[in-house]
Amino acid sequence: MNSFTEFGLAEPILRSLAEERYVTPTPIQAQTIPLVLARCDVVGIAQTGTGKTAAFALPILNHLSANRARPQPKSCRILVLSPTRELSSQILDGFRTYGRHLRINTALAIGGVPIGRQKRALAGGVDVLVATPGRLLDLLQDGAIRLDRIETFVLDEADRMLDMGFIHDIRKIIARLPAQRQTLMFSATMPKVIADLAGQMLKDPARVAVTPVASTAERIAQRVIHVDRGSKTAALTELLRTEPIDRVLVFTRTKQGADKVVRGLIKAGIAAEAIHGNKSQNQRERALASFRAGRVRTLIATDIAARGIDVDGISHVINFDLPNIPESYVHRIGRTARAGAEGFAISLCSQDERVFLRDIEKLIRMAIPSSGLAAPSNQAQQPTHHQNRHRQQPHKNRGKHHSGGKWHGRGKRHLQDRNRSDNGNQTSRKNDPQSERQIVSQGDFAGVAFMQPR
Ligand code: AMP
Repeated sequence: MNSFTEFGLAEPILRSLAEERYVTPTPIQAQTIPLVLARCDVVGIAQTGTGKTAAFALPILNHLSANRARPQPKSCRILVLSPTRELSSQILDGFRTYGRHLRINTALAIGGVPIGRQKRALAGGVDVLVATPGRLLDLLQDGAIRLDRIETFVLDEADRMLDMGFIHDIRKIIARLPAQRQTLMFSATMPKVIADLAGQMLKDPARVAVTPVASTAERIAQRVIHVDRGSKTAALTELLRTEPIDRVLVFTRTKQGADKVVRGLIKAGIAAEAIHGNKSQNQRERALASFRAGRVRTLIATDIAARGIDVDGISHVINFDLPNIPESYVHRIGRTARAGAEGFAISLCSQDERVFLRDIEKLIRMAIPSSGLAAPSNQAQQPTHHQNRHRQQPHKNRGKHHSGGKWHGRGKRHLQDRNRSDNGNQTSRKNDPQSERQIVSQGDFAGVAFMQPR
């Protein structure tokens, strides 16, 4: 599919896509939209940044527009579960943007904000509810929502749900859904627990996939610096002073760790903010807004909080702590290099973290070069060929799209200046369970819709 008009979507949806200046469907959209329109269950292997929100939101909106029905009180027709508040808000935003010419009711059920307003929003029933698992369970317990009328259930970022310990909550929620429903599940990786969950939750699902998780790592200039645990703050300070940083996301394993890093940096005269689960929704939004606007160049985050952060122009990711879950490393470094080329990932690795490093290297199937604090000048030490190019670019053009790219429809509000795409290099997942239909196209999607690295 080279154009959205070919899917047979309702005119009001096409109109909003035109307004958003979406021209070409992304690969996940091209594969997923026809399946969802045909009411199939779908498992999608895709990361944030591939256009997966529209891949499910557009056909769902089409379904709502073609099957007008009043939602029952305290009920919803479509339920989307996502692991974080930020991601949930973004998904809701997507539904509202693409559905702006349809008359649909939407609601958001996330933690960190008063529950009363959410109960009131649900009282009359809504078409689309986007929720995080904890708050949805609270609402269920309070009798503010019932799920027995769900027509389509979407589980987004399923592997993150697992990492964040939501798997039991998800099971409880699934138990409340009607047997007769459409189910869509998206995940960047497919650990066994998630594959098992998919087996229980989906009926004869079609499988679509773009950009396997490991290929992200190949596009980013990575290095590891071996340091004593006690010298990490000094090492970070030095890196922040010497690296050619536009915007940097620094990861710590714990919330306390994040706050400690901020204190250390502020003491060293470097402005930084932290974003993690102990912060209120307001604090998180303020910190993100400062980061997005460039008022603060350094944001410290935990894995959980960083999920769903959608900020352009992150030139560097620094792992202050190495993650103990290797997939988290790939998610973390994928926050940079959105346009497929220009990103730096630097990991500070203490003696006790070497075991994590080995697991990560096994997953990404490459050894991460180690260096001192100064960036290595020897290109042989750079894992990608993109880095020099990055350095030569004038600062203001970094991360901007190359006009020759094919995914040229850049939306107005939703994606202005956005630099997202996981570029091609697809491998189809042929080794997946036989029971699942294989919808994965063969070969390289880079020429289909994603921006090519220069
Ligand atoms: P997602 O992976 O859903 O977070 O989407 C990534 C970004 O790409 C969002 O800013 C979308 O607005 C944007 N986007 C999604 N689909 C398209 C498309 N077909 N053309 C242009 N931009 C898109």
